[in-house]
Amino acid sequence: MNIILFDRDLRIFDHQPIAEAAKLGEILPLYIIEPSQWEDAAYSVRHFQFVVESLEDLSDQIEGRGGKLFFSIEELREVLEKLLEAYESINVFIHRDARILKKVTGWMEKNQQRLFIYGAEIDQVSAKAFKKQVQLYLDVPLAEAPERIHVPEETPSILFTDMKKIHHFRVKGKRIRFGQQGGESRALETLDSFLEERFANYIGNQHKPLPSSFSSSRLSAYISWGNISVRTIFQRTTEKLQLCGKDEERVQLEAFLSKITARVRTACHHLEYEQNEDVSIVKKDWNEEWFQRWIEGRTGVPVIDAAMRCLVKTGWLNYTLREMVTSFIANTLWLDGQKPSAVLAQLYLDYDPGLHDFYVQQITGLSTKRLKIINPIKVSKQIDPEGAFIRRYVTELEKIPGEYIHEPWLYPAFYQLGYPPPIIDVLKANKLARQKFDRLTKQDKPSGKKGEDETGQLSFDI
Ligand SMILES: Cc1cc2nc3c(=O)[nH]c(=O)nc-3n(C[C@H](O)[C@H](O)[C@H](O)COP(=O)(O)OP(=O)(O)OC[C@H]3O[C@@H](n4cnc5c(N)ncnc54)[C@H](O)[C@@H]3O)c2cc1C
Repeated sequence: MNIILFDRDLRIFDHQPIAEAAKLGEILPLYIIEPSQWEDAAYSVRHFQFVVESLEDLSDQIEGRGGKLFFSIEELREVLEKLLEAYESINVFIHRDARILKKVTGWMEKNQQRLFIYGAEIDQVSAKAFKKQVQLYLDVPLAEAPERIHVPEETPSILFTDMKKIHHFRVKGKRIRFGQQGGESRALETLDSFLEERFANYIGNQHKPLPSSFSSSRLSAYISWGNISVRTIFQRTTEKLQLCGKDEERVQLEAFLSKITARVRTACHHLEYEQNEDVSIVKKDWNEEWFQRWIEGRTGVPVIDAAMRCLVKTGWLNYTLREMVTSFIANTLWLDGQKPSAVLAQLYLDYDPGLHDFYVQQITGLSTKRLKIINPIKVSKQIDPEGAFIRRYVTELEKIPGEYIHEPWLYPAFYQLGYPPPIIDVLKANKLARQKFDRLTKQDKPSGKKGEDETGQLSFDI
């Protein structure tokens, strides 16, 4: 039996495993809900909600082609065992993904079954060759969705097709009301609206908290759960670029394309990085009260609080704000990054371990041995000068005069606002963090020296 194992590739267009397997005849399109995955600290019900919406869309697409999408709620290897028992021989078709590869490869080898892996396989050779390989991967023609899908009439009893059973599966966390909805159709609509209109101020708005929520592509969750392939986005944007007459518009689209390419590169680095688990060189402290205040958006630093409240509500932040909230908890407050990283992962609708872990480790100095310390007050003045973002999410500060919005503790009537004083003196704490880090990593750098990882200035994410 040819089994298509869906994971973070919940789509039908440009899906090579299903396109190739369907050519062979009968197939079994399968999504396995693994209890152990959903118990992992990094996952939450908002991810599950997005996945369920994606599965509904995928199921409709497959049924429209005469097939069915099957489900099982059990550990992946146990399902494979039972399928092998039922069919005597199985071929499994998957996309290259660190989690699924780890789970499936050894089992398939041990049981002498055939595994077909699709997706970017890029060697970490020289930088130039690497860039060329990424480009070649992005230029490959898109895989057509199969016209007809034939599935077996009878299937083992561990499989089911009724989505209601999935709705009863419980995952920790709170559901999200204002987040993006999952599914391939939504992903394509989002790409269309970006290329038709929203891209116009892509560069100018990229750091600005409120404008970026409209003029960024907002494709990250769709890419992370595989509702759309990076290749589809890359090729559609390139087509648009070729038709584009205005230089101003071309510049925006080129910047977007370089981010899409950066994503492929980071994902490939992750596959390699996975093998190196010994990254913990810095021992930090723990303060449960500070941690809770950070999650609840009550640190007394307005931009950090606005960002955390926005994230809880919407599931999304732009790159600059992601850096700021991570740096604040792990560097300024000097708390061990593991728990905060898991909480952030639970909250980001687009959580992708390959990107998330990579950036958190870069900021906290675990992978680079350089700490990224940010002065949130200074950056806040640059990216949200009028304080519109702060006022939207920190309603206690809604009416404060503009000159105090970034540093409300300077406002003479501060204690009437009902907003907490800052948890820490940010400048002093940042200086101390640098000294501690330098001592721990035995780097002989004078503290306070302005370097590439020194802060206050905007950082650029590629
Ligand atoms: C601490 C931290 C954690 C992050 N965790 C995630 C995560 O779990 N999942 C995730 O998708 N992104 C993550 N990012 C990268 C980035 O912040 C988001 O991809 C971006 O904010 C998503 O918004 P957008 O789709 O509108 O992006 P756009 O600016 O429109 O970019 C288009 C696409 O390019 C990719 N992209 C953009 N910037 C980067 C980058 N710097 N590196 C790699 N790919 C990029 C994303 O897929 C994005 O959807 C993280 C960044 C930081 C600093």
